[in-house]
Amino acid sequence: MKERIAHILDKIRRAAVSCGRDPNSIRLVAVTKTVSPEEIRQAVDAGLRVFGESYIQEAMTKIDAIADMRLSWHFIGHLQSNKARYAVRCFDLIHSVDSLHLAQALNREAKKIGKIQNILIQVNISGETTKSGTGEEEAIFLAKSITDLKNLSVQGLMTLPPYFDQPEKARPYFKALADLNYQIQQQSIPGTDMNELSMGMTGDFEVAIEEGATLVRIGTAIFGDRT
Ligand SMILES: *Cc1c(COP(=O)(O)O)cnc(C)c1O
Repeated sequence: MKERIAHILDKIRRAAVSCGRDPNSIRLVAVTKTVSPEEIRQAVDAGLRVFGESYIQEAMTKIDAIADMRLSWHFIGHLQSNKARYAVRCFDLIHSVDSLHLAQALNREAKKIGKIQNILIQVNISGETTKSGTGEEEAIFLAKSITDLKNLSVQGLMTLPPYFDQPEKARPYFKALADLNYQIQQQSIPGTDMNELSMGMTGDFEVAIEEGATLVRIGTAIFGDRT
């Protein structure tokens, strides 16, 4: 696993340099859904500190099992409002906020524990009906509405493009997310930073980096196929 991780970090570095970006502006989020706490420990030994989970229940069990390690956990899956309480207690960044209702629930729970919860707005750039995420106009509306939710801080956008076996085909979706992020940034909405773009997975992270990704979410290339 050490070698696989070193290899991915090297690819991230090269992709950044190839387009004139600072490699330190890109963070690797190691996606650990279905991965055991023991394997996560190995990844920590190899130098990783930021981990992404998609299911609250699974995440809580694992976070508990390795609570002795100081790690940063990100939530990347679909989040139901009734799990907001757990999400704000466990995660430094929630990538998947896609409705005002969910944002309000997170804000309420964050307030209870005196936390400013960092979030991303998940955008369904491709418009596929099977995917979560807001539309583009709705993302702008949501960013503006969250201004009033003082315990949330919008750090940027996240997307999950359709699956392609040629990564180049995902490029227009990454570009569209970066454009939308820029558009929201230009409006200087209070309570928003818009400096993070969460996009790119095992099959397409290099293209995502070329289009401005600051967070790449990689599972399979680190931990192998999920069965
Ligand atoms: C599973 C998952 C990933 C990681 O995908 P890989 O192809 O295994 O790298 C990234 N993002 C989200 C939202 C996921 O659910």
